[in-house]
Amino acid sequence: MAQHPFEPPRPSHTKIVATVGPACDTKQRLAELLVAGVDVFRVNMAHGKPADQEPRLATIRAASEETGHLVAVLADLAGPKIRLGELPGDELTLDVDDTVYFLRQAEPAGQDPEAPPDSERSPEQTVHSLTTNYAPLVDELQPGDRVMLADGTVSLEVEAATADRARCRVVQPGLIRSRQGVNLPGVKLSAPALGAEDRENAIWAAGAGIDFVGLSFVRSPEEIRALKALLAEHGSRAQVIAKIEKPEAVERLEEIVEATDGVMVARGDLGVEIDIARVAVEQKRIIAECNRRRKPVIVATQMLDSMQHSRVPTRAEVADVANAILDGTDACMLSGETAIGRFPRQAVEMMHRIALATEPLCREGPPARLPDLKGEDINPITEATVFAAGRMAEELDAKLVVVASASGSTALSMAKNRHWVPTIGVSDSPETLRRICLYWGMIPMAGAPTVESHALLEHVTAWARSQGVLEGGDRIVLVAGTGLKVTAHNMIVVHELE
Ligand code: PEP
Repeated sequence: MAQHPFEPPRPSHTKIVATVGPACDTKQRLAELLVAGVDVFRVNMAHGKPADQEPRLATIRAASEETGHLVAVLADLAGPKIRLGELPGDELTLDVDDTVYFLRQAEPAGQDPEAPPDSERSPEQTVHSLTTNYAPLVDELQPGDRVMLADGTVSLEVEAATADRARCRVVQPGLIRSRQGVNLPGVKLSAPALGAEDRENAIWAAGAGIDFVGLSFVRSPEEIRALKALLAEHGSRAQVIAKIEKPEAVERLEEIVEATDGVMVARGDLGVEIDIARVAVEQKRIIAECNRRRKPVIVATQMLDSMQHSRVPTRAEVADVANAILDGTDACMLSGETAIGRFPRQAVEMMHRIALATEPLCREGPPARLPDLKGEDINPITEATVFAAGRMAEELDAKLVVVASASGSTALSMAKNRHWVPTIGVSDSPETLRRICLYWGMIPMAGAPTVESHALLEHVTAWARSQGVLEGGDRIVLVAGTGLKVTAHNMIVVHELE
């Protein structure tokens, strides 16, 4: 449990999610990222089967053990992501007015074998044929639909569809590559959010002790309930993170937030599926809804994108991370920056620095009263207790708040009440401690006695004194339960050190 030389001066309240990939998947690299401030590692099931993720998971756990930093793992299911097949030479340039055929069959992509003879084409017109991993695509495309490729930088319009192919015209030209995503804004796809491969991966996640499971391309609360049921059926307490990236999810946001355990603003696909100009507006709306319903929320994609190749982010990226924090997000996510970038540790350190620089602006003083809470899962006794505890801690200038939480829900309530006194979450359950890693401002602590409040206070006090966090005269506020009502935390203890 040696302290790493890059140990940050203090944790940020904003949590950092980092995607694991070839740029960081050794124990040494992961340990560096943990010490730099990572709270949750994301493994992307779109880029590796369980057999590939298994050793990654073992390495994450070994790095956590070695550094003494608790970390949660988010397994992100691919969902019905349509991808291009292989292209000859792996890339293809599409010019304006080129004709592109999407084929039902997985024929080799490239120049179309059934393209009209040269004599029937204008000299400028080129015909290409593309395959995808989604055979029903040709049934679901209608003339007039838009098909977006290469992260929305290339767009096509469907002109005609027959039983085995759909003909499109290139409207916005550009370069496409093998296996890139295909987005169909406005097209109602029949594929379920949880396909056969996703189900297999979710069952693996349940058995592997994964903490959070991301559900891509969510369109309805039923899809979230189906994943929750599958995880529970396989004995998992993993929490579902609904990725908001489809117009249907934006339209049914309230129901989806109510049904899920947490949310990701998946801006990559969202910015292609809806008008890109609306991304910031929807981000604010999604965060506000999650905070109202007490659900953790992660803002994802391109946050420090240029750091894949540069040690320093752009000014706009710094402002983007800061604005997400000011919007009230619980966590910010790094994707390619840590998975395939050249500077993974620097990207995490930068995100941590931006959070520390921004958070003082969020402190407007404690709210006067509890907001109107309508969520079904919210316990009003716990909410009122953590609200009052936070107020007391600020009024009494306490140095530390300690929250004992069996399932993690009291820690989440505390996090959503946004108090600024450093707050430690303790639990008997290792799963709960890892879950707490995602909750804003919560510092999970393993090994503390949780049943008896005196023993807990003594343990935390001894630890805090040894770390130089507390000295004589300092106050600690403890939130726990009398045990009179098992499901609610109803006790606040204020302790002043001798
Ligand atoms: C996104 O689309 O922003 C996202 C996070 O999903 P993925 O990385 O799986 O495409």
